[in-house]
Amino acid sequence: MPEKKIYVTQPQLPPLEEFIPYLEQIWQSKWLTNAGEFHQQLEYELAQYLGVEHLSLFTNGTIALITALQALRITGEVITTPYSFVATTHSLLWNGIKPIFVDIDSHTLNINSDLIESAITPQTTAIMPVHVYGNPCKVDAIQRIADMYGLKVIYDAAHAFAINLESRSLLQHGDLSVLSFHATKVFNTFEGGAIVCRDAAMKQRIDYLKNFGFADEVTVVAPGINGKMNEVQAAFGLLQLKHVDASIAARKGIDEQYRRRLARVKGIRCLPLPANATSNYSYFPVLIEKDYPLSRDALYQKLRDHNIFARRYFYPLISEFPMYCAIPSAAASNLPIANEIAQQVLCLPIYPELEEADLERVYCLIGD
Ligand SMILES: *Cc1c(COP(=O)(O)O)cnc(C)c1O
Repeated sequence: MPEKKIYVTQPQLPPLEEFIPYLEQIWQSKWLTNAGEFHQQLEYELAQYLGVEHLSLFTNGTIALITALQALRITGEVITTPYSFVATTHSLLWNGIKPIFVDIDSHTLNINSDLIESAITPQTTAIMPVHVYGNPCKVDAIQRIADMYGLKVIYDAAHAFAINLESRSLLQHGDLSVLSFHATKVFNTFEGGAIVCRDAAMKQRIDYLKNFGFADEVTVVAPGINGKMNEVQAAFGLLQLKHVDASIAARKGIDEQYRRRLARVKGIRCLPLPANATSNYSYFPVLIEKDYPLSRDALYQKLRDHNIFARRYFYPLISEFPMYCAIPSAAASNLPIANEIAQQVLCLPIYPELEEADLERVYCLIGD
């Protein structure tokens, strides 16, 4: 019998019958999109749940990133990391902004804040760090640099759902934080995203921008885009919110088992969980080091041959892709740590419904 396929993640889906009443309400109201009731309720409940004051929903995280840059009128150069999903820097190109790559820290795999200052030029207007795997960036150091040079900070917080740093939402740091609710994320609305901001005036501006720039029926205040989340997505989000704590708790159990079992495997290094922050256990990255008998790619292939689809997040680096590789800061010599980690990293399957027997198959293949 062929072995069951195990993917790196599986979308979190509540029981279908729980979703039907929401759909009935949409069918009755015939209000499908444009700040409907579910949209308003989800903005309110998510802000409460996440511990932030102002949040604006989007149709996906990438449009939210592009809009965040528009909202702050960012131009010129933005300092960012090559170790992320490609949407981080695509959002810069879509705004005609030049990404400037800075190397990562070998412990957190986030942008190395010590290297940011030397990448600042007269064209620099902002820093766009990523909380990779939900591990917080050095937010205080980054803010100090931003304040000193008059730069904005926009966090790509696509992995950072429900993370508290020193008992306060990580999303309160920076000028704006952008979330993704894509199907593969801890909290999903099929596709979706949000911008978290600090004040009502900024939320108003973001809300105009995501609705073509309309301020009222006859007034267009900005060249906005259509970034609206529809009522089906918002309703699904409200339902998901009821299940998300249980989902994170189940992921935590899997994270613990991996750590316990893999601790004994020579050449496999698990990334430590941050001491001063909560985790959402959305990824389980390991580094395949020199003393492991197989290369990272050989292990990746061995798992694939047994229908286990681990993923190399993040390989290739963003700086390797054709639209970025000619930028001077994209050179491998400027990004030695990111290049090394991209060759070693493998994200193992983790999701609430991953069964004991599935986990067993994963460890056995890695451990023997
Ligand atoms: C998922 C993700 C995005 C893009 O979000 P979408 O909702 O898929 O558009 C951006 N950045 C990072 C780091 C991501 O993981």
